[in-house]
Amino acid sequence: MKESCGVFGIYAPGEDVARLTYFGLFALQHRGQEAGGIAVANGERIFLHKGLGLLNNIFTEEMLQSLEGQCAIGHTRYSTTGSNIILNAQPIFISHKGVKLALAHNGNITNSLLLSAQLTDLGLTINSTSDSELIGLLIAIQDGEDIVEKIAKAMKSLKGAYSLTILTPNKVIAVRDPYGIRPLCIGKLNGDKWVFASESCALSLVEASFVREVEPGEIVVAGEEGLKSYIAIPSPRKAFCIFEFIYFARPDSYIEGVNIHYARRRMGRILFEEGAVEADVVIGVPDTGTAAAIGFSEASGIPYGEGLLKNKYIGRTFILPDQRIRDVGIKLKLTPIIETIKNKRVVLVDDSIVRGTTTGKIIRMLFEAGAKEVHVRISSPPIAYPCFFGIDTAVRSELIASRLSIEEIRDYIGATSLKYLSLEGLIRAIGLPKENFCTACLTGEYPEEIPAHFHKLLLEQR
Ligand code: 5GP
Ligand code: MG
Repeated sequence: MKESCGVFGIYAPGEDVARLTYFGLFALQHRGQEAGGIAVANGERIFLHKGLGLLNNIFTEEMLQSLEGQCAIGHTRYSTTGSNIILNAQPIFISHKGVKLALAHNGNITNSLLLSAQLTDLGLTINSTSDSELIGLLIAIQDGEDIVEKIAKAMKSLKGAYSLTILTPNKVIAVRDPYGIRPLCIGKLNGDKWVFASESCALSLVEASFVREVEPGEIVVAGEEGLKSYIAIPSPRKAFCIFEFIYFARPDSYIEGVNIHYARRRMGRILFEEGAVEADVVIGVPDTGTAAAIGFSEASGIPYGEGLLKNKYIGRTFILPDQRIRDVGIKLKLTPIIETIKNKRVVLVDDSIVRGTTTGKIIRMLFEAGAKEVHVRISSPPIAYPCFFGIDTAVRSELIASRLSIEEIRDYIGATSLKYLSLEGLIRAIGLPKENFCTACLTGEYPEEIPAHFHKLLLEQR
């Protein structure tokens, strides 16, 4: 199971930490809409509420008011089919041999089968099918003076991607895997209060100021003694997920100092340099293709037009979990603005092609609306390899670029022409060193060895 989620944490005695966590999660809702939860601690005890669906369905005013304490963590969850059960909602709560904690996880542990066998051998019961309970139990069973030592020891057994917020009765702790695969940052609130969040967009909503990213391999503790940092595992190299820049992160977030919207806009500019075409109008697939479409228009001088309208009330939840719904659902989500498209040569810009299903339907819709030509420009290289580190990009056989050449994809989706951004172009647009990224979904080069049971997924095609 792969999941990409949003995590949040706050240490702020005297503040309404449950409400601030709710706000923080609200800003991270794009990272997951299938489940969510908040755990609050008051110095002695931990209280937890979680449920399925969007945050505003999970929390009532009454519930938020009942969650009182000085620190809190929260989670919003994105998952694949079949795994959307309440037992897998987070934060998870662990109480074992005097250790009490709640934990929220973004990422995917690649050695979870091994860990779950080891924990079961020790006589522990595992209730969920999510990695996050394994991480919590693994921490709880370690010897160690204090929670930091236990976490540091547990990290030595974990493989894969994990950005965590952990709540103890009186502390909030942020943890990032040694490659820093998934994002996690630190913010400061009113001088001596601290916030942790998957993306910086969640800091602004609670009026915290950005301090820095949690470093790969680092444990950061916020508690009575302020903020403390420990390097648990020296980072072998950074391997930040490039798909966060392509698709996942919110446009107003900053990662490593780079604003997501402007990075995507530069991707669009370079996409034109690499894939120029004569056309009458440039349109984007909302929301994630819009920034690159604007960039393409700026660089080409071809006017930008609003060509597709996204129904804001549908939510990704409705589309995602079931392929049948996905197949009929496109018109529920997107409709053409015919004036923009009719009798025009259209450049259609999107951030990525995963399975090719949606893109094909959008193109058909544009032709039905009277487009003369549809030139598809994608602001990322082909996604040809599965992600084992927390992005739900299908098994390899479902990734269209793992089976078909670019010309075959063009034919399959019915585009007049098709061009992808090069990896070099993508890196140039982001403006950070290539060696700091995990580009596995584009190149097949994984930052860490993938355990054997995943190999069959890699070998499925080609
Ligand atoms: P496809 O043509 O492959 O069926 O769909 C491509 C679209 O999927 C693009 O608009 C892209 O923004 C979107 N996309 C890429 N990754 C994800 C993801 O993880 N979840 C969802 N819901 N959409 C995605
Ligand atoms: Mg999209």
